[in-house]
Amino acid sequence: MTVNDRRVYERRIDRDAVARAAADLLRALGRDVDSEALEETPRRVADAYSELLTPQPFRATSFANDDGYDELIVARAIPFHSLCMHHLLPFHGVAHVGYLPGDRIIGLSKLGRVVEYFSRDLQIQERLTTQVAGWLQRELEPKGVGVVLEAEHLCMSLRGVQKLGAKTVTSALRGLVRDDARTRQEFLALTTRTTHDQ
Ligand SMILES: [Zn+2]
Repeated sequence: MTVNDRRVYERRIDRDAVARAAADLLRALGRDVDSEALEETPRRVADAYSELLTPQPFRATSFANDDGYDELIVARAIPFHSLCMHHLLPFHGVAHVGYLPGDRIIGLSKLGRVVEYFSRDLQIQERLTTQVAGWLQRELEPKGVGVVLEAEHLCMSLRGVQKLGAKTVTSALRGLVRDDARTRQEFLALTTRTTHDQ
């Protein structure tokens, strides 16, 4: 299977239009876009946003769970960054992604790729969290899924709404990770450990 949901994610980015808009924004902010220092800025802004908003499709090969592995598989503290859809400013942090396998398992590194794929979008943290969980649910049909994101939002910390370094935590639990108390506890224990370790 290939992650490439063209309906939603293959948006055309018009770099020239982005550069013109960035120049307009600078002018509106009272800056001299013809000055040497800002000359290249609109183009750089267009390049940066294009990169940040273009998800990289990847091949999410899964394998038959021949050995019947039935414990939680968790990738902890996957670094990620995304763009807040309300302010176009970054939020960044770590993701903990786990699942309780059913008939299929997937390479651990792919859990990071899934997070990266959905983070290259104008996002809100809650939506990013549920998109990652929904993808795992759909692709692997596991017995349970758990996703926890801890992130610092620059739109809040830089403007003093929150202290610098303050983290927003979101979670999406599905199946037995949500419904079975022992599994949920085990998953949450694995994810909260990093908060104290780091
Ligand atoms: Zn924001």
